[in-house]
Amino acid sequence: MSLHGQYDSDNIFAKIMRGEMPCVKVYEDDNILSFMDVFPQSEGHTLVVPKAPSRNLLETNAKDIGRLFGSVQRIAKAVETALKPDGIVITQFNGAPAGQTVFHTHVHIIPRYEGRALGAHGGGGAMAEMEVLKSLAEKISAAL
Ligand code: 5GP
Repeated sequence: MSLHGQYDSDNIFAKIMRGEMPCVKVYEDDNILSFMDVFPQSEGHTLVVPKAPSRNLLETNAKDIGRLFGSVQRIAKAVETALKPDGIVITQFNGAPAGQTVFHTHVHIIPRYEGRALGAHGGGGAMAEMEVLKSLAEKISAAL
C-alpha cells in the first residue's frame, strides 16, 4: 500500500467503527474512537482513531488532526494515571514502507516500563487475552 490511493472502507478499523467487528473500547466521542490494540507492543497499548475516513495523516484535514491529537494527549494522560508507566511512546505510521499495516489513520499510545522490552509492531506479537485488555481499558477509562 503506497502513501496515496483510494480509501478502502473495508479496512479493519472502519469495520470496528461501524460495529461490524468487536473492540475493547477505552473512549468514544463524535470525532474519535479509542480502543486497545489486540497485538499490544506493551501492557496498555492503546489506539486512537479519528472517525473521519483518511488513509494516513497526510490525507487527514488539519481540523481533524487537531482534535485527534487533543484526544491522544488526554488518553495518554489517562494511561499514565491508570498504569503508571515510566515513559510513553506515541507513534503514527504513514504508508506500508513506513510500517503502516491498517490503512485508516490512527495513533499508537505505547506505555514503556523500565526493564521491559518492547514487543514487535504490526501484529508480530501474540494476541492479547480479551479479559486482560478489558481490565486495562476499564482502568484507563476510569482515569479519563
Ligand atoms: P499500524 O501498523 O497500521 O500502524 O497499526 C495497526 C495496529 O492495529 C497494529 O498495532 C495491530 O496490532 C493493530 N490491529 C490489527 N488488527 C487489529 C484488530 O482487529 N483489532 C485491534 N484492536 N487492533 C488491531
